[in-house]
Amino acid sequence: MIDFERVSKRFGSWTAVDTVSFTVAEGEFRVLIGPSGSGKSTVLRMINRLIPADEGAIRIDGEDIASLKPEELRRRMGYVIQSVGLFPHWTVERNIATVPALLGWPKARIRDRVTELLELLNLDPRRYRSAYPHQLSGGQQQRVGVARALAAEPRILLMDEPFSALDPITRASLQTELSAIHRRTGTTVVFVTHDMDEALRLGDSIAVMDHGRLIQCAPPLEILTRPASPLVRDLVGREE
Ligand code: ADP
Ligand code: MG
Repeated sequence: MIDFERVSKRFGSWTAVDTVSFTVAEGEFRVLIGPSGSGKSTVLRMINRLIPADEGAIRIDGEDIASLKPEELRRRMGYVIQSVGLFPHWTVERNIATVPALLGWPKARIRDRVTELLELLNLDPRRYRSAYPHQLSGGQQQRVGVARALAAEPRILLMDEPFSALDPITRASLQTELSAIHRRTGTTVVFVTHDMDEALRLGDSIAVMDHGRLIQCAPPLEILTRPASPLVRDLVGREE
């Protein structure tokens, strides 16, 4: 469904992503892991075309992303980042409805969808629909961020360290909810983290990046038992 073919990205003379190739199958939960600065966010931002690739091809369902209209991209992909980025003077409902409203959904449909999403993310619609972001805890704000990304039923969900700022308990419950949502909706997920426990817990497969290169892409069990390099072994944190 997502196809990266020999993709590179440079910032000035710095190569942030170096000839990276991978594919993500429809419905797969793919985790991208690696040290800070290894190029994970750059890969994610190239998938939703926030930044253009310098070299190589990126295809979604066989179509080059360069040829997709902005609305097409928005409809197909939801994006969640660490610092939520909710609009502070908009209610929860309006925040979640951002993309459906842009796509021109009728009001009643948007309202029903917001209710459904709040329930899915364990936020009581009666209590939170009209709340403002500052009235919510960090975990609740991130739930709204996830709801917003899912609002227009995208087939691809891109998540960049979405739970890193949360306390461990809230984080664990959001991980569980995300897994359940993934199983239920079959949405393809690309999830960036630098936490191997999180990667092992969530991923159908884990891609490890280092210095802009993809150094291993394998299911969790294989990452654990056959790390392809000392870096992967360090990330797994196991003694030999
Ligand atoms: P990660 O998400 O793995 O921490 P990034 O993809 O954010 O890494 O960054 C990879 C490298 O590219 C880093 O060295 C970073 O400083 C550099 N980089 C990322 N974005 C930019 C930018 N807009 N301008 C210049 N350098 C950038
Ligand atoms: Mg990053």
